[in-house]
Amino acid sequence: MSDLATERYAAAAAPEALRRVQSFLNTRSAGSPPEVDLLASPASANSWLRTLQWPTRPRLTTDDLPPLYELRETLQAQVEAARTPSGSPLQPDLARHLEKLSWGMTLEEGRLVLSAEGDGWRLVAGALLGDILLAQQHELWPRLKACRNPPCSVVFYDNSKNQSRVWHNTSVCGNLVNLRAARARQRAQAT
Ligand SMILES: [Zn+2]
Repeated sequence: MSDLATERYAAAAAPEALRRVQSFLNTRSAGSPPEVDLLASPASANSWLRTLQWPTRPRLTTDDLPPLYELRETLQAQVEAARTPSGSPLQPDLARHLEKLSWGMTLEEGRLVLSAEGDGWRLVAGALLGDILLAQQHELWPRLKACRNPPCSVVFYDNSKNQSRVWHNTSVCGNLVNLRAARARQRAQAT
């Protein structure tokens, strides 16, 4: 299944395990000219949901959108905070969201599966946090990064051996930032 939210930014895609989380974060408006916020209305949010695989497909209404914006902001802040060398453990902000969610465990074809309970935004948020839980256990979570170009901050997956990538797309943001730095050096030399 393709992740249109991420593809529109030409960012390196996460493996299946983090596909939904990456897509959720890339529903935000970024880029220049800016792409639309895919969660701006229930209609666009529901068509975004259809592009990804969900255990049971939630249906979102207007009331579901504000809590999803909040969760998106919290997770985005978290991924962005990880850009600084000191890193960042999961923020207390996230704890607030956890209080409103619940999960159950089921057995599917002999395997234990954690599934989110509730409906609407709770089902979406629960599934996303469940994905993060699993990704943390497999050391995949730190590979989900926000582009180091602050106005961009598109979320990409770093599958490089030493986890050293910093741009969501080197030819887009890497070159742009290098160009700006070169111009700044030229200006500094001219004065
Ligand atoms: Zn970027």
